[in-house]
Amino acid sequence: MQTSFSARQLADPAMAASEAVIRKCVHCGFCTATCPTYVLLGDELDSPRGRIYLMKQMLENEREPTAEVVKHIDRCLSCLSCVTTCPSGVNYAHLVDHARAYIEARYRRPVIERMFRALLAAVLPHPRRFRAALMLARLVRPVTPLVGRIKALGPMAAMLALAPRGAAQAPSAVSSPATAPRGRVVLLQGCAEPVLRPEIRAAAVRLLNRSGYDVAFAQGEACCGSLVHHMGRDQEGLAAARRNVDAWDREIARGLDAIVITASGCGATIKDYGFMLRDDPAYAEKAARVSSLARDVIELLDAAGLPEGKGGEGIKVAYHAPCSLQHGQQITSAPQRLLTAAGFAVRTPAEAHLCCGSAGVYNIMQSGIAGQLGDRKVASLERLQADVIATGNIGCAIQIGQRTGTPVAHTVELLDWATGGPIPPALSGALNRGPADDGA
Ligand code: SF4
Ligand code: SF4
Repeated sequence: MQTSFSARQLADPAMAASEAVIRKCVHCGFCTATCPTYVLLGDELDSPRGRIYLMKQMLENEREPTAEVVKHIDRCLSCLSCVTTCPSGVNYAHLVDHARAYIEARYRRPVIERMFRALLAAVLPHPRRFRAALMLARLVRPVTPLVGRIKALGPMAAMLALAPRGAAQAPSAVSSPATAPRGRVVLLQGCAEPVLRPEIRAAAVRLLNRSGYDVAFAQGEACCGSLVHHMGRDQEGLAAARRNVDAWDREIARGLDAIVITASGCGATIKDYGFMLRDDPAYAEKAARVSSLARDVIELLDAAGLPEGKGGEGIKVAYHAPCSLQHGQQITSAPQRLLTAAGFAVRTPAEAHLCCGSAGVYNIMQSGIAGQLGDRKVASLERLQADVIATGNIGCAIQIGQRTGTPVAHTVELLDWATGGPIPPALSGALNRGPADDGA
């Protein structure tokens, strides 16, 4: 696409990066077919090509963002299905992140929306605050239908509906030293996942230990910054990235083979730290090193090989690929390959490329579209008549689990179980048979 950014504009590295992305787009429209919002809404301005055009107009002409432009950019899930489809290598992710930061700096949202966005940014990345908010949400859950009737409070109703009914039990996630160390890794402790489903981290530690890895937790590490980064709160996202780079840099100095992540949404962002901090002389090199060491837990296990065990035999798994894993990190076949190796019968749903509607805080801020995508995803998963749904991101697990009676587990929990670990809590009592009682 032809552009006409001025030399002054291109002196800004963020603008120059966006201009390079826009120039790569040849307007072919292949991406529209795989964009969830275009598939649902059928509006060109809710397609990747339409959004690229809107962002070009806004950035190139240094326009104040209008409510109309903000509406179409806000509706984008950042699922990156368009990136997988695009034959021209358009890095839509970097462009939309820049546009979101541009909008955040210049557009005054309605007061209620501003309030919710500030609340989400202040609570979700902090496990203690998030835990307290969930307790509060459980108390006020009975008034959810009432809240849902007030249009402006839609995000509040969506937030209350997403809160799990019971408090998560926290199993031990202490790393026992591996018997035959293959290496040493740091496991991201995360923010939402350990509050909602602490059993995922515990399963990852056990499985990594049995695969020969010593697992450490880095002091001073915090939320990866993904939630605020994708809301356009640029400085908060960069501050989180710097804090984590510092924490992991200390671990790298002690010898580190990988930074392992169990939530694929976080992994996609950490792999992008090198880009996010490229213009910061104090952090560019360290951040690039951190990104090069970042591995999704499945990616690492696929390279290292699973411990012995075929305990999944006789169990049907419907695999839901998180967008941040299949599109954001281009990890497509490893989860099914490992589940199959552990004995599970893996099935893939129709429209596997389409987002489930979770997408960070999207299912709170855009609950209508998110709900439609969630229902559509669950319908295609349930058609597979599996015993369990596996996925690799906490957001997807909550979004899907809210809509189905089929148990939902993280892929790493199933792999741990099939190779000697305990049954995942989500499956406990839900199956007639399983590895624990197989043949006994
Ligand atoms: S990131 Fe997803 S929702 Fe956004 S334009 Fe691309 S395909 Fe569509
Ligand atoms: S597929 Fe790529 S090049 Fe074609 S319109 Fe979409 S973003 Fe542009």
